Amino acid sequence: MRATVKVTARGAARIRRGHPWIYAADVDAPSSAAATDDVVDVIDPRGHALGSALHAPGAPLVLRMLGGANLDLDRALLEARIASAFAFRQRLFPTADGYRVVHGEADRLPGLIVDRYGDVAVLQTMTRAMDARKELIAEVVARTIGARLVIARDDGSARDLEALPRERRVLVGDGATVARYHDAGNEFEIDVMADKKTGGFLDQAENHARAREYAVGDCLDAFSYHGGFALALARGGATSVLALDESADATARTRANVTRNGFDAVVEVRTANAFDVLRALESEGRRFDIVVIDPPALGKRKGVGVAGAADRAYKELNLRGLRLVRPGGTLFTCSCSGKVTPADFGALIDSAAQDSGRAAQLLERRGAGRDHPVLLGVPETDYLKCWILRVL
Ligand code: SAH
Repeated sequence: MRATVKVTARGAARIRRGHPWIYAADVDAPSSAAATDDVVDVIDPRGHALGSALHAPGAPLVLRMLGGANLDLDRALLEARIASAFAFRQRLFPTADGYRVVHGEADRLPGLIVDRYGDVAVLQTMTRAMDARKELIAEVVARTIGARLVIARDDGSARDLEALPRERRVLVGDGATVARYHDAGNEFEIDVMADKKTGGFLDQAENHARAREYAVGDCLDAFSYHGGFALALARGGATSVLALDESADATARTRANVTRNGFDAVVEVRTANAFDVLRALESEGRRFDIVVIDPPALGKRKGVGVAGAADRAYKELNLRGLRLVRPGGTLFTCSCSGKVTPADFGALIDSAAQDSGRAAQLLERRGAGRDHPVLLGVPETDYLKCWILRVL
């Protein structure tokens, strides 16, 4: 018989509300067999079944619900859930070749991320149970989506929580780790082994496409990475785009992408600290029709509370962003920090608008693309904010 883990009344209530995570404090009593099992049955204090879960004894998050009773993380379940997740993306984006195929808990595959970039798939596993089945998952992914190469980009800090070693390696296939895909009508080239995250920021792809629709005049993309917003704006008809990133690796890719898409005459790429450049542009009196602010997760830095330095940094960026927009122009302002809730973000923008002396209309409160769905009842999955303001 399979091991069972009993949770507290509070843990049981949480699971019944649909939340898939149980922290150590809500684990009451694991059965002795549970010490080694990475998939277990979960029961409430009275012994009633709550479903099946991935199990990581000793980790801060001990249980992640897989669904109903008696489920196993086997080939059949992986095939069914990966196929369903892939079919949904294909319906959403029938002609696209770059998107997230599996978004962890939201696709009922806790701790598993699968991104597609053209004919290459990139996996990230954040749970011991998924990590132990990486080869099987890669094989299923390769077959389901028809990828020539499947890579594990298991070098993120989320792995530390389950005491998993950090690694990057090829799981299926061989050949170049360079992949090509399209985003908002532009072609991008990445190296899935070397670039940040899994290679790109697919969560912003639908926002890039939106920026393309707003594109006009002079534009600024302050934290550009590979030029996702900058090239979308160029594609949409902007007359000039200034793209900034402090990483020389990122700007080298942006330059190559600009050339690949034929926008050398439109996009200027600068390797620089955006905080410094925004300040300088403001004092030089430069103004833009569209400004995009998409900083890294400032709230994630150790010891930095949302109320502290991160908050001040977001505030400064938004203040400068607002001031740099010409009257009637547009500000795209983003935060990918899960620590900044949409409500915090709204308050921060409000306060920046007050200080800037500019009135603004909130046109859209956007988040990550639909291939990165937010799981209802799990506010932790609502991490990306991308709000669009018309600045008067
Ligand atoms: N806008 C991008 C994603 C940006 S990720 C997209 O849509 O694809 C954040 C980027 O900010 C990273 O590329 C990182 O190198 C860059 N960055 C971090 N700190 C910076 C700073 N102070 N100035 C400029 N760029 C910075």
